[in-house]
Amino acid sequence: MPATQLPPATHVMDLHSHISLRNLAVIALVSTAILLISIYRPAARDQIAPSSAIDFSPRMQMLGSFEESSATASAAVAPLQPLSSVMTPRGQLSVSSASGLFSVEDEARLGADLERALSYVSERFGSGPSDTINAQINWEPSCGLHGIAYTQIRNTQVFTCPDLPRNRAVNIMAHEFVHQLAQDRYGDAHLGADVILLEGVATWGAGEYWLGGSADFRSFVRPWLQNGSSLPLGISYVGRSISDMNTLYYQWGSFVEFLIQTYGREKFDALYVSGSNNAPASADYFGVYGKSFADLELEWRAWVLE
Ligand SMILES: [Zn+2]
Repeated sequence: MPATQLPPATHVMDLHSHISLRNLAVIALVSTAILLISIYRPAARDQIAPSSAIDFSPRMQMLGSFEESSATASAAVAPLQPLSSVMTPRGQLSVSSASGLFSVEDEARLGADLERALSYVSERFGSGPSDTINAQINWEPSCGLHGIAYTQIRNTQVFTCPDLPRNRAVNIMAHEFVHQLAQDRYGDAHLGADVILLEGVATWGAGEYWLGGSADFRSFVRPWLQNGSSLPLGISYVGRSISDMNTLYYQWGSFVEFLIQTYGREKFDALYVSGSNNAPASADYFGVYGKSFADLELEWRAWVLE
């Protein structure tokens, strides 16, 4: 499936990432060395991120990219473009974008777009930001659309280029915002969360920004389970293809949707803070639900196919 769905190369790369303050500090100090070191480290948290395009279709949405998060991080600490900045009236969001990245008209709309996105994901996620989020849109010369969330310093970034429409950057930012909301809701436990839940909740929380017209993640992933192109939930995306990563992110979003709809938010919150080292399926599923991860995955599959 996904391999046939990739758009032209310049539009292929959607990726997003977030790393801990600890990593950021290291990168800031030795930004060149970290590039070498990180080749041998597992990718930090997120990588891909599809998004709806102007001519969206679910199939077109299956695009993404995989990059070492360190490459993203090094770009993040050394932005080359001057930034313009606007503070939203509510003070929850400070938006800046690389000059020349957007037309004057687009740049004028960007703040309102992102403010709406933050408001939407806050309502969907169930809680808002605890303080101002600094949202930054950077110029990515390769046109590889991706994002990163430095949740401990409240900085979310999306990298894009003038060839990509504004809404695609907003779509990625919506996902990054949810990572920040997760940090604000769960505290530092967020940083070690089971990657299935960490990326699943950010994908699910981005809702319509990632669904592009589909009603929910359940119906979005259903065809994959029907045609046998789905993946097991409990695997890492590290080292996998772009399309596999996209599949996992959407499946994880749907799994989070399943857990919250079926068992409620309180249990999900308890589950979220029980993971360790971002390992897939490391959360205490049995302790919270009285069911193993494997059993819950079977339940999820049956639920999707209902
Ligand atoms: Zn993410």
